[in-house]
Amino acid sequence: MCGIVGYVGKHKAAPLILEGLKRLEYRGYDSAGVAVWHDGKFTIAKKAGRVANLEKETARMRLTGNSGMGHTRWATHGGVTDANAHPHLSSDGQIALIHNGVIENFNSMKKFLLTKGYQFLSETDTEVLCNLIAYHYAKEPVNSDESRFVIAVRKTLLHVEGTYGIVVMALDAPGELVTARKGSPLILGIGDGESLVASDVSAIVSRTQSVVYLNDGEVAHLTPQSFSITTLNAGEVSPVVDQVTWAITDAELNGYTHFM
Ligand code: GLU
Repeated sequence: MCGIVGYVGKHKAAPLILEGLKRLEYRGYDSAGVAVWHDGKFTIAKKAGRVANLEKETARMRLTGNSGMGHTRWATHGGVTDANAHPHLSSDGQIALIHNGVIENFNSMKKFLLTKGYQFLSETDTEVLCNLIAYHYAKEPVNSDESRFVIAVRKTLLHVEGTYGIVVMALDAPGELVTARKGSPLILGIGDGESLVASDVSAIVSRTQSVVYLNDGEVAHLTPQSFSITTLNAGEVSPVVDQVTWAITDAELNGYTHFM
């Protein structure tokens, strides 16, 4: 289970996400990737190896969007390859996903999705979950009361056995992230005109010290100006906003060569 960083706001997402991923490197990982939404398109870069490899790759690309997400992977399903790195994109191009954890019932879901015409480019359990969200999203009618994006993620997760910390983006929901957890930590960062999510507070504390610790079985919907949390069964959750009492400089070397 490795690193997750997501951002929606007014700044360029990619540099903030890459900075967050670097702060999570200490956890160990084998690949890294980033997805950014811009002008009705997802741009995805992912590489086996260090975040520095990913940075080299993204330096050659124009990643100009204000919403995005990044991941450092520790492979559980499928080898350490660029194709298996996250983010994954659903085969209809509508849903992008990063995931920490293990989807235990991915085989039966994959068989079902193949009968529905979904295709797979990786060996991961995560890509199966990504396509299952896309399947539910395509079926979900527009509902004036609540985002169909959130509803589709909740419906999908009711079928999942295993552990997950996920961040999801939808092509036609710019400036929105949906994030959920079961057995894998996630923290929301509530900033000034921006919202963040990460698997570890160190990835977001340089932008905000107001955080919400997501609980197992909760799904959060983030936009630059707002956030809301529901349970998997659509129950409302009243979030508690905590203040982190340390600053990012407390987690840096400050001239020393080692932390110890
Ligand atoms: N099971 C997923 C994979 O193998 C996620 C691994 C992780 O937690 O980084 O890609």
